[in-house]
Amino acid sequence: MTRPVAIVTGAAIGIGQAVAARLLADGFSLVACDLQDFADSAEHRHDVVADVAAAETPERLCRIADGLGPLAVLVNNAGIGGAQSVSETEDDRWAQILDVNLGAAMRLSRAALPAMISEGEGSIVHMASVYGQLGFRTTAAYAASKAGLEGLTRQMAGDYGPHGIRVNAVAPGLINTDLTRGLLKDPIYRQLMIHGTPLPGPGLPEDVAGAVSFLCSSDARFVSGITLNVDGGWATT
Ligand code: NAD
Repeated sequence: MTRPVAIVTGAAIGIGQAVAARLLADGFSLVACDLQDFADSAEHRHDVVADVAAAETPERLCRIADGLGPLAVLVNNAGIGGAQSVSETEDDRWAQILDVNLGAAMRLSRAALPAMISEGEGSIVHMASVYGQLGFRTTAAYAASKAGLEGLTRQMAGDYGPHGIRVNAVAPGLINTDLTRGLLKDPIYRQLMIHGTPLPGPGLPEDVAGAVSFLCSSDARFVSGITLNVDGGWATT
């Protein structure tokens, strides 16, 4: 039987790796994209080493997906951080963070939508962040990009719901990955992130993968336009 296909970006390590593994276990074929090489290979997973922000990547990923089966899921997970206030942010860095985190998600969605529209269904998940919801210090471009993803989520849910396509975001809090391990060495970040989270943390990439899996499953067939926080209660307490 042909497996439905999921595209996951930033899938070599961290949250994206856990999402890819979970969607494979859920029965999808995977097109997994990352800038860096994948440490292992897996059955039903097609690995693509590419920059998600490069102009040709969206069509390339969708072409590969098309050769595998019906495109059912897109997870725009690839993201880069930045620890600068507005005063410290240079134009190039602003443009890069906005382009990788937000622009690439829009372009890959645009490339994936025709296949989903012709199937009459699909699930798109954007990886947002509590940083886009809280006034967390020195993360100007990152916070703007992640808040932008939540706006894009709601907007796309309106446009594409009539085609059977659901668009949601997941907003992780403090999750134990390469991205946050460096930050946790700083006592100020440690205080803010660990002590700001009511549940014992940090969370695991698999915690985020479980939320993505739900949003891509038939259990969420009437769920669209939401941001599902996986943050141990950080943003709401
Ligand atoms: P990570 O740095 O551990 O992994 C990110 C992956 O994305 C890496 O494999 C990297 O090579 C890849 N990547 C980066 N830029 C890319 C590009 N241009 N093209 C292709 N691949 C690219 O990060 P993570 O912690 O797993 O974060 C994954 C997502 O979750 C990001 O969007 C991040 O902003 C978001 N997030 C993470 C946390 C957390 O606590 N870890 C919290 C909130 C949001």
